[in-house]
Amino acid sequence: MSRIIYADNAATTSVSKRALAAMMPFYERHFGNPSSIYSLGTFAKKALENARKDVAACLNANPDEVFFTSGGTESDNWAIKGVARLLSKKGKNHIVTSKFEHHAVLHTVKALEKEGFAVTYLDVYDNGLVKPEDVENAITEKTAIVSIMYANNEIGTIQPIKEIGEICRQKKVIFHTDAVQAVGHIPVDVKKDNVDLLSLSGHKFHGPKGIGALYIRKGTNLENLLEGGAQEFFKRAGTENVPCIVGMAEALKESLEEMENNITKITIMRNFLIENILKNIEGSILNGDLEHRLPGNVNISFAGIEGESLLLFLNEAGICASSGSACTSKSLDPSHVLLAIGLKHEIAHGSLRLTINEQNTKEDVENVAAEVVKVVNRLRQMSPLWEDLRKEENLIQNLEARKKIALSFFVERFGSLDPSRGY
Ligand code: PLP
Repeated sequence: MSRIIYADNAATTSVSKRALAAMMPFYERHFGNPSSIYSLGTFAKKALENARKDVAACLNANPDEVFFTSGGTESDNWAIKGVARLLSKKGKNHIVTSKFEHHAVLHTVKALEKEGFAVTYLDVYDNGLVKPEDVENAITEKTAIVSIMYANNEIGTIQPIKEIGEICRQKKVIFHTDAVQAVGHIPVDVKKDNVDLLSLSGHKFHGPKGIGALYIRKGTNLENLLEGGAQEFFKRAGTENVPCIVGMAEALKESLEEMENNITKITIMRNFLIENILKNIEGSILNGDLEHRLPGNVNISFAGIEGESLLLFLNEAGICASSGSACTSKSLDPSHVLLAIGLKHEIAHGSLRLTINEQNTKEDVENVAAEVVKVVNRLRQMSPLWEDLRKEENLIQNLEARKKIALSFFVERFGSLDPSRGY
């Protein structure tokens, strides 16, 4: 098989060499339990605490505000259930979130609804952003917690977290953000962003899978999710996964060191993909905000095709991509995120998410753009749906008008596309 082009970095990333090198000694030699009092244990304990300091420094937090978990899903569950259950004892039984959160948040609040909590699901506008004033209007004296994601995993939109945090602080409501797609990719500062609780996950920034953290601002009280031993200052029981914690901390430091260069490089490649795909495919639109979006995110819908078929053909060409989040790709329903931003079912069905990173090359994005154009055209030739949609009054014209706005934004903001520009 020819070389695989991996363009699904929002699903997961490869473990960096630096992270892997940092981890290996903790499998091979320093395998002690950090709770043991002999030197093998205290060595592991020291590494654990150094990793905590490193992760804290990357977030501008204090080390005693960082708690290691098994990943983003656990961090989201712990933050929301932990606060909601504690504050419900004081009569606060209301939660505010948005319609396009990851299922780790949406299914958590759904479970809390069954426990008697009331949940406000805020609308997301067609640019994929939540409005801070909507958060403000949704908060009542019964609100226990607001949970709004930092960056969306499907359409890459970056939310006005600082402003939402400011509102929550003024209203004395605890603010949680699922920053799983943001940490390691864009600057995140828990103090500047006014957050009380923040979830992150190692495997999204070249760390290992099954490891994450929850930032808990000093003074924020929440119930434990897991009971057992005294690990993580009595707040999160379970023997610490020292190799993965060390690897995640190393990967995070590396991501921050490389962030500026990576953002520049990835943004150029992302813009190349967006421009080339949109320009060459009629009836295609870019989903999500043009400006407030993750550097590596491309999410485009194509009228008249099935996203699943597109993925299968791309896979045959050695291209790994996604039509929604990895967790929903088992379902053929259109993504809840694309429906939340107002896409019609038939348009949402034909969507493609490409999430690139610094490991991708100029050749990668050129090949991906060319292959997407080829496959979409082939699928449309086989699809009666495309011919029907073309007959629908104004549909294609409306999509083309949206596309024109997106393209002129990119040219204005980043300059016209020049293939000889460095990547
Ligand atoms: N939140 C967001 C926004 C995500 O993208 C993901 C993973 O795709 C998660 C939470 C879950 O994280 P994990 O895979 O570490 O459980």
